[in-house]
Amino acid sequence: MILLIFGPPGSGKGTQITELAEKFELTPIPSPGDLFRKINDDEIKKYTSTGKLVPDELVAKLIFGEIGDKDNFILDGYPRNLNQAETLENFLKEKNKRLDYVVYLKVSEEEIVARISNRRVCSKCGRNYNLITNPPIDNKCGCGGELTLREDDKEDVIRTRLTVFNEQTQPLLEFYKDRLITVDGEQNIQNVFENICKELEK
Ligand code: AMP
Repeated sequence: MILLIFGPPGSGKGTQITELAEKFELTPIPSPGDLFRKINDDEIKKYTSTGKLVPDELVAKLIFGEIGDKDNFILDGYPRNLNQAETLENFLKEKNKRLDYVVYLKVSEEEIVARISNRRVCSKCGRNYNLITNPPIDNKCGCGGELTLREDDKEDVIRTRLTVFNEQTQPLLEFYKDRLITVDGEQNIQNVFENICKELEK
């Protein structure tokens, strides 16, 4: 099975991927955002620090390298515009594969802004916390690392990321309408997971 988990920044994609990957035995393909944060390249940072999309060719090369010849995997953060979606369709078609389902975590804009401004990331291991729903102990990560606010989680950058999502990413819902599973992403983590599973197991 090939899955894409889809939703605005902060909709809980990362959390669901871990569980889905385990239950359905899918390899989680790292999201471009995570890969970019690891690469830590100044040229790429010009885009990521302002919330704009990195050029399509660069992202495709990176993600297709990660997919390789895998058969069962779950994508996160790619594709993020129509051109990327078409490029992915062609890449998979050449390998006689197809993206089976797109799971859309629907979350309102007010909820997104609230979640992201309370998000903190461990500077050492990359684990995410939420100051309200999943607070760290003594303001430190379980691994002992310092918690920081992601540069692009600051309010003005969040606004740009949401605009990019609404203008460039949201149209993919129409593109994938024949394989779309829409789930209310504002429920608790377990209910979101159960709703996704119910739809996938139909
Ligand atoms: P994320 O961690 O998914 O919010 O991504 C962080 C940043 O990485 C985004 O704001 C973009 O600048 C860049 N990025 C992530 N995914 C893509 C993509 N599919 N295409 C282009 N840029 C991306």
